[in-house]
Amino acid sequence: MDTKILLPEDEIPRNWYNIQADLKVPLDPVLHPQTHKPVTPSDLSPIFPMELIMQEVSTTRSIPIPEEVREIYRIWRPSPLVRAARLEQFLKTPAKIFYKWEGVSPPGSHKPNTAVPQAYYNKKEGIERLATETGAGQWGSALAFATCLFGMKCTVYMVRSSYAQKPYRKSMMQAWGAECIPSPTTKTHAGAEVLKKNPDTPGSLGIAISEAVEDAATHSDTNYALGSVLNHVCLHQTVIGEETMAQLQSVDLEADVVIGCVGGGSNLAGISFPFLGEKLRGKNPDLDVIAVEPSACPSLTKGVFAYDFGDVAGLTPLLKMYTLGHDFIPPAIHAGGLRYHGDSPIVSRLVHDKLIRAVAYRQTEVFEAATTFARTEGHIIAPESAHAVKAGIDEALRCRKSGDAKTIVINMSGHGNLDLPSYDDYFSGKLSDYEYPDEYIQKSIAHLPKV
Ligand SMILES: *Cc1c(COP(=O)(O)O)cnc(C)c1O
Repeated sequence: MDTKILLPEDEIPRNWYNIQADLKVPLDPVLHPQTHKPVTPSDLSPIFPMELIMQEVSTTRSIPIPEEVREIYRIWRPSPLVRAARLEQFLKTPAKIFYKWEGVSPPGSHKPNTAVPQAYYNKKEGIERLATETGAGQWGSALAFATCLFGMKCTVYMVRSSYAQKPYRKSMMQAWGAECIPSPTTKTHAGAEVLKKNPDTPGSLGIAISEAVEDAATHSDTNYALGSVLNHVCLHQTVIGEETMAQLQSVDLEADVVIGCVGGGSNLAGISFPFLGEKLRGKNPDLDVIAVEPSACPSLTKGVFAYDFGDVAGLTPLLKMYTLGHDFIPPAIHAGGLRYHGDSPIVSRLVHDKLIRAVAYRQTEVFEAATTFARTEGHIIAPESAHAVKAGIDEALRCRKSGDAKTIVINMSGHGNLDLPSYDDYFSGKLSDYEYPDEYIQKSIAHLPKV
């Protein structure tokens, strides 16, 4: 068998797979933050294009991928599915381990799979600029890349502390012509208020969201874009799983275990939903889908399944999801992309219905897995993706005990070339483990909105 299973460009999927078509019970509605009534398209139209608002609630199984989007996907898609044979030998496992390599996109992660269609639909509806927030900078750089290719403008509110600590993501955004500004800014009411009270604030994702939403809501040529959590984001990411399925079929294999790390849930959704769709329709009943999160931010394993706000300030609509409470303050772990208090409503529902199994790992064991991966397979992977690798390694070691030759598929959501300072901290013994204390979780959960 070849090491890399590659598909030709004309096998880039023609449709996204919408798992809402196969859910036995429809998702709980998104609620208005003040009235607690289901939100309507007109509530959302000041900041999102109509096409994405409709995708958010669609129950059509296949949604066509516009040719203009497929044309840009060709730059890096189909991404390789790689057999991790050296890792298998190192682990002495009978399991077959594959990883789907999303680090080949220009920004280096899975995020452009949704950034590109989001830019496309906005452009089509006459929008000239997108505003967004970014923490560590992965989403900001993906949106900067996408808007650049459609000749649009892009404003990224980057959390001030990351802006200072992670300058290279900002450089990428600038290379693609985006404006990247440290949040809070004085450009928005929300930002100016925070700065007035606390001029030295390090900023937060919650504040940056408020700024980007305000920017979009107050400029008619500008919309807002979100890089995870929402249904349309998960939908766009299904190109990952659709390609993986075709790649496995081409070597006559079926996945037994599918693994992804979870921040907001979109890369796990992307790789697993096409497989879960088959399971929901009665095929591959024993399929095991594993969601992997940091034990420092354990929303799926220790949170509650309830309505909550998407942001710290409590301005966004309410989503029914696993949450640690919107005022949960995640500790500064190195997998910046996994520090979110909530999760995708669809992923949450599937965890609640036991179609996805959630596990949590500590960051030192995660970096140990990342190092094992680098020393066997060569690639230096994102700390976020390393969570999935850790779960894959544990699964392969279980196969060594049981003698099962399972087919394990790991979504490798991104490369770690801009995360070397985190690797440095691990090598110099500066990383410590942190389990979020249960009593803090109980405190935040006590502040959930009463719905
Ligand atoms: C953003 C990011 C994640 C987490 O986001 P999801 O929406 O849960 O996929 C994981 N890995 C990488 C490399 C990221 O950039």
